[in-house]
Amino acid sequence: MSNDNSRNLYDLALKHIPGGVNSPVRAFKGVGGNPLFFKAGQDAYLIDADNNRYVDYVGAWGPLILGHCHEKVIDALRNQLQRGLAFGASTEAEVLIADKICELMPSIEKVRLVTSGTEATMSAIRLARGYTGRDKIVKFEGCYHGHVDGLLVKAGSGALTLGEPDSLGVPKAYTDLTHVLPYNDIDAVENFFSACGDEIACVIVEPVAGNMNCVPPVPGFLQALREQCSKHGAVLIFDEVMTGFRVALGGAQSVYQVNPDLTTIGKVIGGGLPVGAFGGKQEIMDMIAPLGAVYQAGTLAGSPLAVAAGLAMLNVISRPGFYDELATRTEFLLSGLQERADQARIPFTTNQVGAMFGCFFSAEDKISQFSQVMNCNAERFKHYFHIMLQNGVYLAPSAYEAGFVSSAHGEEEIQLTLDAAEKAFAALAD
Ligand SMILES: *Cc1c(COP(=O)(O)O)cnc(C)c1O
Repeated sequence: MSNDNSRNLYDLALKHIPGGVNSPVRAFKGVGGNPLFFKAGQDAYLIDADNNRYVDYVGAWGPLILGHCHEKVIDALRNQLQRGLAFGASTEAEVLIADKICELMPSIEKVRLVTSGTEATMSAIRLARGYTGRDKIVKFEGCYHGHVDGLLVKAGSGALTLGEPDSLGVPKAYTDLTHVLPYNDIDAVENFFSACGDEIACVIVEPVAGNMNCVPPVPGFLQALREQCSKHGAVLIFDEVMTGFRVALGGAQSVYQVNPDLTTIGKVIGGGLPVGAFGGKQEIMDMIAPLGAVYQAGTLAGSPLAVAAGLAMLNVISRPGFYDELATRTEFLLSGLQERADQARIPFTTNQVGAMFGCFFSAEDKISQFSQVMNCNAERFKHYFHIMLQNGVYLAPSAYEAGFVSSAHGEEEIQLTLDAAEKAFAALAD
């Protein structure tokens, strides 16, 4: 398989684009080698600059739950293209998508559209602070909420720590207000709240962690967050930018039956166009400008194109049985991978929630902690990644990303994936 065109494009890209990429994980730093450049996507496949085809498990990092170029999404976009790209004023479609989001996620009474997930979490946190009149926020180790200054913090050893910025350029003063707790540790949450719960503006959490591979919440974890936030008057924010309309039509909050006060969404609701949204209780949402004194705005917010694609997407995925089918296919994929890893005697385990999954090179039975994810065999993943790639399967180029199955992934694509994995596991066992 030739990669000459991708290689040439990468060399050219390095000249005027920092690192050759417009988002860091695209650079293959986590797996080594040169990143691929793509020229098209069709259904479950990506086609690279050298005309190689790959079954795609990245799905543009989550949005493409219908695969590439779903006809309903493309038709909606084509329709809108003829009527205008942006008006800087309101449209009927914004009303329709807001109604649809509130219908599908009943904890959302009012919702505002923005242009990325990062903006959604940034705005939700400002709103929670404005609403409570408090400054401190709580996040969890291994959870990513976009590149917001105060959220670019990971914890040290899983102990309760004051935040240290993960990035240069983030003043320590910003992250001093961010407290990081270990994911899935109910005791840590209860202890922290009993120490200073009344100073906490909000807790922000990925209800299924998808930015440290895929780690579902342990039973009782999300409930404990709900309980402590209610008890201490803190705002509970579910960051469902990844999980919203991905793990189920109603998001992770419908799967685990816990209602947050605010929810951030993105990815799937844009149908592949840049979009984000945050919403929740009316009483909180009504504090945003122009009704209230929490400022938030966006020139291209509610972009007619993004809304058209999102509405088309939401209509297709609202079909009864859509998520059951996706989950069944995902299960089939994961049980097939597990079987082949076991045959090759490669320590391997998987996690799944709906159409979102994680694969771990680990001898542990179940992965539920950040530290377990960090202890997985990253070298093995790199090797596996490249063999899968050579055999026509495009995985996220990092051991710390969730994988996504779309409705375009049929038996043929899954079989192709399993055949590739069989070769990969055999090579790893040598
Ligand atoms: C992707 C992601 C974000 C950031 O969204 P962008 O559109 O990349 O800004 C925030 N939170 C979670 C959980 C995400 O997965």
